[in-house]
Amino acid sequence: MNPLPADLLQRHPCFNADACHHFGRLHLPIAAGCNIQCRYCDRRFDCPNESRPGVSSQLLKPREIASYLNSTLKKHPEISVVGIAGPGDPLYDPALTFEVLEKIRATWPDLILCLATNGLNLPDCVDRLAELRVSFLTLTINSLTPATGAQIYDFVCYRNQVFRGQSAAVLLAEQQQEALARLQAKEIWIKINTVVIPGVNDQEIPVLAERLSAFRVDLMNLIPLLPVPGTPLAQISPPPQDRMQQLRRQAGKYIPQMSHCARCRADAVGFLPKVRQCSA
Ligand code: SF4
Ligand code: SF4
Repeated sequence: MNPLPADLLQRHPCFNADACHHFGRLHLPIAAGCNIQCRYCDRRFDCPNESRPGVSSQLLKPREIASYLNSTLKKHPEISVVGIAGPGDPLYDPALTFEVLEKIRATWPDLILCLATNGLNLPDCVDRLAELRVSFLTLTINSLTPATGAQIYDFVCYRNQVFRGQSAAVLLAEQQQEALARLQAKEIWIKINTVVIPGVNDQEIPVLAERLSAFRVDLMNLIPLLPVPGTPLAQISPPPQDRMQQLRRQAGKYIPQMSHCARCRADAVGFLPKVRQCSA
């Protein structure tokens, strides 16, 4: 039986492209740290003109959440979803994230809650997230192949131990799949984000989608690499749009595809900015 609350889907602008014209989202920038290092990510910038994940002009503390949400929800009545998506990883410090989610639930019991994570700490957090009625979850999985993962991640830090190379990639992939297994019976919509990195993981995207389809995955969001200056993958050019369309068609045989992602900042507010729709 499908355990998912279909009514919430009507009001989520990312999981449902039709909803993005009527509903907006708010990202709460509370998660500063991260437990892995992706070789395309640099969170040091604080430029309000730069729009990409990992960028935020401010970091909020749990005690600031209520007044921030109060004023922002008044200014933006279109917001139906409150998400935590960085600028680091929300489950790097699960206690802080749970404190914030509990505060929201206490005052806004009907708000839709959403969370985006790399999945390293997710298996241990699935039950609490479900109790707090987080109903949408995005998990970034760029590869399940150790040799490829070793090219994408500099390190993975788990239970005070640092892993590098293929052992880091294996550990991350195991945690991600364990989390997916635990999520299956929960009332949580699941989206996989995958950054498409030409020459690194693009060839294996269809196989990745096929492997992930062994789980209940509701949506897959292939995101073209956005080369960030100073990062190890900065010299790789983003995949062209026709390549993205081809990959979405191939992966779409296994998992429904998202093609309206705006690659939002960690402190994004309101309607999604307009993006060119792919015809894939
Ligand atoms: Fe950056 Fe997210 Fe990767 Fe952490 S998981 S290094 S915040 S892209
Ligand atoms: Fe939605 Fe993509 Fe923006 Fe996340 S980054 S809020 S999935 S449009």
